[in-house]
Amino acid sequence: MKTPFLLLLLVSASLYSCTFNSKSNKIQIGKTEELKDSVQEIKLLFVGDVMQHKTQLNYAKTDSGYNYSSYFKHIREDIQSADFSLINFETTLGGKPYSGYPLFSSPDELLLEVLDSGFNIILTANNHILDRGKKGLRRTLSLLDSLRIQHTGSFQSQEERENRNPLWVEKNGIKIAFLNYTYGTNGLTVDSPFIVNYIDKQIIEKDILKAYKNKPDALIMLIHWGEEYEMLPNKKQVELANWLFSKGVHHIIGSHPHVIQPIQIVTDSLSNQKKVVAYSLGNFISNMSRKGTDGGMMLKLTLQKDSITQLKSCEYNLVWTGRPIITGENNYILYPSSTKDYQLNNQANTLRNNFLNTTRKFLNDYNQGAREYLVQ
Ligand SMILES: [Zn+2]
Repeated sequence: MKTPFLLLLLVSASLYSCTFNSKSNKIQIGKTEELKDSVQEIKLLFVGDVMQHKTQLNYAKTDSGYNYSSYFKHIREDIQSADFSLINFETTLGGKPYSGYPLFSSPDELLLEVLDSGFNIILTANNHILDRGKKGLRRTLSLLDSLRIQHTGSFQSQEERENRNPLWVEKNGIKIAFLNYTYGTNGLTVDSPFIVNYIDKQIIEKDILKAYKNKPDALIMLIHWGEEYEMLPNKKQVELANWLFSKGVHHIIGSHPHVIQPIQIVTDSLSNQKKVVAYSLGNFISNMSRKGTDGGMMLKLTLQKDSITQLKSCEYNLVWTGRPIITGENNYILYPSSTKDYQLNNQANTLRNNFLNTTRKFLNDYNQGAREYLVQ
């Protein structure tokens, strides 16, 4: 397994050289303890796939609707500590009848819990966004609009795509452009005027040029790609990442494989800027139990702007999905790697430790420059 990935890294190393010491694992640019007045910061948090399988529907159902209040209760503060928290919403809000795999339609309560927990940007370019066809897409996007939530990745019209692609955010004088694409939509298509952003180099290049006209301090690509259950990025992902960097993308955050793939931080040889590629954040919450799919990572990037904007830190937390059948709880709960003691039963403890230990060992072998943080 190791050799092919290392070879691919060598391919990318011809474009970028990594200056990070994997032992220290912490990126710290500058030594400022307190920020100078002229230095501004922005904190971004990214998570992987939010899914809603049939078993999750069953556990969430109550006499008065669907209850997801347990899902994110241990990580709410962490999610809310970022200026912008982004989530890959890998289902639709297509209305009743609700359904799990293979054609997802989730209760609106799931979105409300996601928002109440602190996520404020929803990503919709993924292979399940058309699971309920045109009606499902329209309902999903209309609901997001009615709640005045920022979202990108799929659109109800060309005009909407003009406005939300890239999706712009600004905080503390730092302006960020987000672009979101998927490799496909499981063979389902929609007619005009609906648009899903597919990975297409010509289109992406145009979108990047459009973003640069508005002078972003950072351009971040959220991309749904890769092969399911593969721990290492394939050749296509590595090549596309290198191409995106060569076109001016600053950071790349991936999803879709349902397992965590490594994070690399590379230094652009021309600008000397540090750039992150997180190949896959893994699942965020799902009913999957196959090896490596019962967890994922929350990734935090802190960007700092002085005369230019640079990566200040890149850290991740490992999040394990406690399924009720394992934990004996009434519903699903995400357990972060944390300083807290969650008092899980023996079976849950064993599975959580397996996930944490296996993932840590893997990332220790393959990550370049990112380090784990614990939820306080
Ligand atoms: Zn997917």
